[in-house]
Amino acid sequence: MFDKVLIANRGEIALRIHRACKEMGISTVAVHSTADSYAMHVRLADESVCIGPPPATESYLNIPAILSAATVTDADAIHPGYGFLSENANFARIVEEHGITFIGPSSEMIATMGDKVAAKDAMKAAGVPVVPGSDGAVKNVEEAAAIANEIGFPVIVKAAAGGGGRGMKVVGSPADIETAFTMARTEAKSSFGDDTVYIEKYLGTPRHVEVQVIADGKGNAVHLFERDCSLQRKHQKVLEEAPCPVLDNPTRQRIGKVCAEAAAKLGYRSAGTFEFLYENGEFYFIEMNTRVQVEHPITEMICDVDIVAEMIRIAAGKPMSIRQEDLRIDGHAIECRINAEDPVTFAPSPGRVEEFHAPGGLGVRVDSALYAGYSIPPFYDSLVAKLIVQGRTRDEALMRLRRALDEMVVSGVLTTIPLHQQLATNPSFVEGDYDIHWLEGFVSGS
Ligand code: ADP
Repeated sequence: MFDKVLIANRGEIALRIHRACKEMGISTVAVHSTADSYAMHVRLADESVCIGPPPATESYLNIPAILSAATVTDADAIHPGYGFLSENANFARIVEEHGITFIGPSSEMIATMGDKVAAKDAMKAAGVPVVPGSDGAVKNVEEAAAIANEIGFPVIVKAAAGGGGRGMKVVGSPADIETAFTMARTEAKSSFGDDTVYIEKYLGTPRHVEVQVIADGKGNAVHLFERDCSLQRKHQKVLEEAPCPVLDNPTRQRIGKVCAEAAAKLGYRSAGTFEFLYENGEFYFIEMNTRVQVEHPITEMICDVDIVAEMIRIAAGKPMSIRQEDLRIDGHAIECRINAEDPVTFAPSPGRVEEFHAPGGLGVRVDSALYAGYSIPPFYDSLVAKLIVQGRTRDEALMRLRRALDEMVVSGVLTTIPLHQQLATNPSFVEGDYDIHWLEGFVSGS
């Protein structure tokens, strides 16, 4: 097992990884920007190294600075968390070239899954159902029009290198395909430095359902069932639940098995997530995330598995500690992403946290790097806490969620707690009756 792991991240996920390391008897190295000198991840880690000024490009995305920190502290491995360098194939490769273990998949796997056209091809070959659309990249307007006519409108033009919900254009009718195709290409080039685009059938009312897998890179893989992440605003997830409230057991088992088998067949290593759109009983693969996800705790709660510890074990060459036949769904879990934002306008609300009280009690987990007196810097993501609840049933989880939200106190900055309080009592949400567009309507009051 590793003696020392460097955590190339900040905030709650840096703490999450630190906690797994401590329970495994591994020392931790925090890295931080000058804006994060007093951050909780720096306070808790065994060692810390300042890697640059506040902008992420000069610190948390600064590959030479992070490698130097790993070298001077003699770290055996680097855990990238999510965001920042976690899906940067080049970073994974350089880390390995320096004789340090990258806690994640191989750099080749990250590169394949980071190119959505290549990822879709790999999935099709591995027997995973994908959204109908172009066979790979679309070269010109004529081809775009022909494919769109064949699959039928509406269609969506997507950037192969896209991410974070950007680089997509929905096209409703043949008259608009030329403009949309040209715009999508231009935008893809300027945003991602790659103008490759592809076309998919646009699904009108899907849910976002994703399957968590863990694999050892040697052909062994398990799935940890699914999460429903349909509650999104601007393609960003706001609240997630596991299991998906509308899947029946045979369907759940079937898609889980497809994903575990695909992961094994691909030789996938580490934790990964197969993201699908789910509509009218069918799953359509959209992308694979090759890292730990923000919403991983809800799966941990219902499966009683430490996903981060499992990633570390696998990276260290140890066998996985879980077998498919031992995995069961225990009740229901819900996660609220609490952002330091105005709950109505969603404008960021950085600043000093005057009071912080985390809710507790049975079935409540709070993953957060907040403390009273902490100043939330304006430079990074606004996620400041994840409130996770579990109950024996979805109803019990909902009741627990309401009382936990009522207990939670964050003052001095605005947070999205009031939005979650509204959601937790909304009849459509309570019924599980929502799709990926529902939340946009809810927040805009329509
Ligand atoms: P990103 O990597 O930018 O997150 P995804 O391919 O995962 O891009 O898509 C993000 C979101 O865009 C999905 O969760 C869904 O809301 C929407 N979307 C993507 N593809 C389609 C499609 N074919 N039909 C309808 N909505 C889609």
